[in-house]
Amino acid sequence: MTGMRTIEHWIGGKSTSGSPSGTAPVWDPATGAQQAEVVLGSAADVAEAVRVAAAAFEEWSQSSLSRRAKVLFAFRELATARAGELAELVSSEHGKVLSDARGEVDRGLEVVEFACGIPHLLKGSFSDQASTDVDVFSFRSPLGVVAGITPFNFPVMVPMWMHPVAIACGNTFILKPSERDPSPSQLVAELWQEAGLPDGVFNVVQGGKEVVDALLDDPGVAAVSFVGSTPIARYVHERGTATGKRVQALGGAKNHAVVLPDADVDYASDHLVAAAFGSAGERCMAISAAVTVGGAGDALVEAVSAKASAMKVGPGRDPSSEMGPIVTREARDRIAGYIGSGAEQGARVAVDGRGLVVPGHEDGFFIGPSVLDHVTPSMDAYRDEIFGPVLSVVRADTVDEAIALINANPYGNGTAIFTSSGEAARRFKRGVTVGMIGVNVPIPVPMAYYSFGGWKDSLFGQSRIHGPDGVDFYTRTKVVTERWPTVSAHSAASYHFPTST
Ligand code: NAD
Repeated sequence: MTGMRTIEHWIGGKSTSGSPSGTAPVWDPATGAQQAEVVLGSAADVAEAVRVAAAAFEEWSQSSLSRRAKVLFAFRELATARAGELAELVSSEHGKVLSDARGEVDRGLEVVEFACGIPHLLKGSFSDQASTDVDVFSFRSPLGVVAGITPFNFPVMVPMWMHPVAIACGNTFILKPSERDPSPSQLVAELWQEAGLPDGVFNVVQGGKEVVDALLDDPGVAAVSFVGSTPIARYVHERGTATGKRVQALGGAKNHAVVLPDADVDYASDHLVAAAFGSAGERCMAISAAVTVGGAGDALVEAVSAKASAMKVGPGRDPSSEMGPIVTREARDRIAGYIGSGAEQGARVAVDGRGLVVPGHEDGFFIGPSVLDHVTPSMDAYRDEIFGPVLSVVRADTVDEAIALINANPYGNGTAIFTSSGEAARRFKRGVTVGMIGVNVPIPVPMAYYSFGGWKDSLFGQSRIHGPDGVDFYTRTKVVTERWPTVSAHSAASYHFPTST
């Protein structure tokens, strides 16, 4: 298409179109119009990126901790100064409202701040005189070229869960962003270069399955971090580990919030509405199921419905919008389908966002916040990850029944409880088979100095992302046992297995 802006790869410190296998449209979800095209990379582009990143590893892996920390601090300054611009790019291609996009950039920067402490994080341990005249110590080495494959819903934050930590640990990095919102990664690449990161340490290869498969199969890639839907996470984990790579693959979610009768209805409904409809529900930590216990249901549904109906839906760039459009037309139609199937299968549609029209944006990919009441576990709207602004309300008689419902779900990413009972909250925290738990906090995304990750079908592999697990994932440990014998005290080697003396 003539005159259409083209978003390219970033390999070896410059923008390049490489040897594309095609292009994909990048939409403006608020208008429904195509705003750019992104090149779809090929196996040849991956091979070139791996070659460049492997060459850059030779120098970067030997860089001092002081130098790495200086680059990290400079990157943090530059990205903070350009945070507004990054947020605008996110909002324009993803559709989320600007304040939410800014929040994602800020949460990503927290991981950069964590990685600025890399000299401390990479400290090994030392045991003096572990045996007579013998010391034992450990230290960490980087892995080599590592790759990150990321979803559309956080095009700045999710890659930042990976690359600052990987690079700080001395690795070189290849990012394969979502083809739906590829532009922020280009700006991030430029900021790394401006911060003094040597060319080839951070690379971006745009594309889809062909690029992912080439990264998974390339013997030059030592590790893969993936975040996306569960079927692809499972696939990436299986294919990547089959070729001997380290793989952490974070998948989808169905996050439940349990509301007890002793919860403050106003507080719980405020937070539920924000957690279900913020970012149009396109968050892996969005609350998509509210489980009301005992008599909590009717008052909660009434309050949530009133607040959902009052939300202002509009283009993300309009500061008065509280919720933006859905990322693509197909995703919007899929979400609408779940409201229909919920009604057909016996749920009550308390708030129906289908048919919402935003004046002046009639072709935008909009759908309003929606609430389904009296949902049961057999309904499609409950079983599937809808990934849109639909809150399903399920009724339970007891806390234990609510916990059992959560535990029967294949996903285990996040969950929350609203209550004023410490006893119930404790039972809940200890009982649920879920990785991240909020008590009166609906979206319990851990701070950067903890690690992020769910249980069950929400995470494949042993390692969670960023925080201490991130440092473990991107390094290998050596343990050295060392003796410096003096010639006069030299004792003969023995043939039994070494024991301490
Ligand atoms: P997705 O799985 O469709 O895509 C993720 C990445 O995989 C993209 O880079 C995409 O290009 C690539 N991909 C897609 N299909 C592929 C295929 N067949 N083979 C190889 N690669 C493929 O996910 P999405 O729609 O971009 O993002 C939404 C999903 O991500 C939701 O399920 C959400 O819950 C999940 N998510 C999870 C977390 C988490 O931390 N657990 C965080 C954010 C998003």
